[in-house]
Amino acid sequence: MQTTIRSTIRFDGVGLHSGAPSRAVIHPAAPGSGIVFRRVDLGPDAGDIPARWDLVDRSPLCTRLVNGRGADVATVEHIMAALVGCGVHNVLVEVTGPEIPIMDGSASVFVRAILAAGLRGSAAPVRALKVLRPIEVRRGDALARLSPHDTLVIGFSIDFEDAAIGRQRKLLNMSNGTFVRELSTSRTFCRRADVDAMLANGLARGGNPGENAVVFDGDRVLSPGGLRHADEPVRHKMLDALGDLGLAGLPILGHYEGRRAGHALTNDLLRALFADPAAYRIVECDADMAARLPGVGVHADEIPEVA
Ligand SMILES: [Zn+2]
Repeated sequence: MQTTIRSTIRFDGVGLHSGAPSRAVIHPAAPGSGIVFRRVDLGPDAGDIPARWDLVDRSPLCTRLVNGRGADVATVEHIMAALVGCGVHNVLVEVTGPEIPIMDGSASVFVRAILAAGLRGSAAPVRALKVLRPIEVRRGDALARLSPHDTLVIGFSIDFEDAAIGRQRKLLNMSNGTFVRELSTSRTFCRRADVDAMLANGLARGGNPGENAVVFDGDRVLSPGGLRHADEPVRHKMLDALGDLGLAGLPILGHYEGRRAGHALTNDLLRALFADPAAYRIVECDADMAARLPGVGVHADEIPEVA
């Protein structure tokens, strides 16, 4: 059955790139409506912004959606991961500015609130996208691939010259509440040199090391309190991938593999998938299939404690 949240949830924070105050409010929505964003500051003529792969502007720093009237919302990937990872199918997300608030840089604030509000089911069946044959995209030495699997599996590998990040790889099956336990608290991260460059360009004004991003400099972690997991960066990349795959508009049954991939490449992958009708099938989930989707078996008491 399709789900929505039981009650409205409000998040007050700042945009990571603009530093401007931003409020996001998640409202329950009817079956079949999907996840939809709305810029309340732009007025009714701006129209809604559905969380859909074909509305993604592939800017490298975050996932930004733009509708046909030019209304946009950026940094949607973490709230998307929280919704998808908690098994929420239909909500309206109102936002007061061009960016979803970054909160602590992970999905945990959103996840806690969603699970505290609780989910409401409907009689409407859940549909899923079953991957039928491998699809792969590359940009330079980065790769993203989807191949057939009967659950959603996410594998990721990264390789940074900063010794404190280095090479990390991880593979997780997203069934049985894995997202909440293993990924939801892992924060976005950046390198000191990148922060300096972004500040010089007027970006990342909301980026406050220790509050909403982990900052690495060579072999050092600059953020007070250190890491939440020894491999927090690769876990965050998996969180991003889950959120970006959520822009397919329905749960994916398949094995995603990312190597040094980012938001734009995962979007390239969805575009390649939807361009090839023989590569996937939309299926109505039976009970067995539905029981293996992300969001089934998630519990608030399994969110790791964080400082
Ligand atoms: Zn992220």
